[in-house]
Amino acid sequence: MNQLLPQPQRLRRKTGKPFRIGKDSVLELVTERQEPRLERHCRRAFPEAQLSCIVGGSGYSLCIGASGSEDGSESQAPRQEAAASSREQGYRLEAAEERIHIVAPDAAGLYYGLQTLLQLPDSQGNIDPVVIEDWPDTRLRAMNYDLRQNFSKPELLIRYLADFARYKINALLIEYEDKFPFRKYPELTHPLHALSEEQLQELQSRAHEHFIEIIPLQQSFGHLEYALRRDRWRHLRETEASIGEICPSRPESYELVTDLLEEMMEAHPDSPYIHLGCDEVYSLCECEECREAFGGIRERAFIAFLNRLIEFAATRGKTPIFWHDMLDKCPPGELAALDPRSVAMIWIYNGREIESQVAAMADKFRALGIGVMGAPAVRSFEGVEHQNYPLLANRTDNLLQWNRAAETLDIGCMVATNWTATFSLGYPYGIFETTWYPMLLHAELSWNRKVDTGTYIARFLERFHGIPADRARVLQGNLRLEDYYELARKLPDEARVNPDVAELIAVMHDYEAATDRSRAAHKYAYRLELYPGDEAERHNLLDIYRRNRRGREEVRPRMTEALERYQPADMAAHYVSSRFYLHDYLERTLYRELGLNTEL
Ligand SMILES: [Zn+2]
Repeated sequence: MNQLLPQPQRLRRKTGKPFRIGKDSVLELVTERQEPRLERHCRRAFPEAQLSCIVGGSGYSLCIGASGSEDGSESQAPRQEAAASSREQGYRLEAAEERIHIVAPDAAGLYYGLQTLLQLPDSQGNIDPVVIEDWPDTRLRAMNYDLRQNFSKPELLIRYLADFARYKINALLIEYEDKFPFRKYPELTHPLHALSEEQLQELQSRAHEHFIEIIPLQQSFGHLEYALRRDRWRHLRETEASIGEICPSRPESYELVTDLLEEMMEAHPDSPYIHLGCDEVYSLCECEECREAFGGIRERAFIAFLNRLIEFAATRGKTPIFWHDMLDKCPPGELAALDPRSVAMIWIYNGREIESQVAAMADKFRALGIGVMGAPAVRSFEGVEHQNYPLLANRTDNLLQWNRAAETLDIGCMVATNWTATFSLGYPYGIFETTWYPMLLHAELSWNRKVDTGTYIARFLERFHGIPADRARVLQGNLRLEDYYELARKLPDEARVNPDVAELIAVMHDYEAATDRSRAAHKYAYRLELYPGDEAERHNLLDIYRRNRRGREEVRPRMTEALERYQPADMAAHYVSSRFYLHDYLERTLYRELGLNTEL
């Protein structure tokens, strides 16, 4: 039997002959209410089979048998009833010799049962007898699109929703920043890369199709660089130097921010939540007006403005979410003033004490009636800006620590944050498509918190790259959770699925080897000054320089090509420029001065 991702909660293999779904299969879908999405997914999954859909009873079921068999005509009602007792979004799947039967209490549960079924057939299309009982440990399992800087082409943003759902992800946090088609302030909308109204619609309808809920994020206190860098709003900064942070004391600030929030909420009528951002507002209480109004108490200034935003969102029927960090060390007396119609999203991306840190904060918020959500990171600063793909040991550690916190504290929403850079004027991290490995680990952990992560890499390689476990072991030896990026460079020719993702990672490895990881000319140049005129030193440096230069020249067009598969050409060029600027500069200056690049 194939390996499953995420691993189901309970799986019992049974003896018997395998079942095959094909032309002579008959599908019967029974749904409590009209659910055209499930009908479409069944037709798409098994285009050759005959499908009948019945509305009635309670619960949801899908029965697959061979045409002419007695099973197809059995009454469905009792089977659906059995589903009513199981858990929200859960399902029971039984594959036997004569038929396959999935039951679920809700439409999402049946959809997840179908996703598992699609992972079951082996390479011959055989499904071995098995009973699976499965349900999510976390109600909202979210990925994250950050559209502030370098991000995937709109058609990919839309296409990935089906990929997320295949691994039972059911929510997506989106920070559009200036890629949102603002109406009242069209000058805030990026001229090239903003999503159109149609794309925004398409994103939402595709999310709905795959049982994914979108949580829009509209920054409303800090990280407003795209607005406050403009002359029209520059005077609203808290200080001249706080480029992205707005002064809460000026009436125009509230007006601007709530105008943006209103449009964001209206554009997502089906989203119960609106994320207000509100992280990293470092300059609080630095202007004269704020100091006076809030007695110089930063948290008081923060909560006063946040409460106005919570009121604004709550009266429009939305549950507002805010990042927790500005209230991290808030005195209890001040925190008590926070409007409880809100949810704190706790984000911690590094460190070894996540469980206890989250517990302390969750207790504080929950005691005030404020909800809590969790945010690990699948990409993060890591203290090294130049990362080209996630630093995996940190990411897996972060996800695993958060997983324990989620279990202990029963956190109902976990978001795998996936930022493009530290902030919108920042240096880009490795691109989104390099993060599938930690993203799907998050998908797995948020579905099944007690899963054996020791088998994750083998299951990922099989599901995401189509590489069987025995072949993966030949390539890498014993597979550890942290081995993926090391292994991925060997995969472009091995992967039957997603070879482009492997090539993207391989290119980034080759770039790092040519610039920094093997001997790098700029690090050796000082030796010429220490040993002037020494022939051996000069030869050595020249040799290193030539190797570096060859490697860089070889990898540059490959990097452009790999990036352009996923991003518009100018974004790809931005990334290449961020990685090659220093080396090109050294060519024009240091290497010329040393006479290295004239001796080729
Ligand atoms: Zn102020």
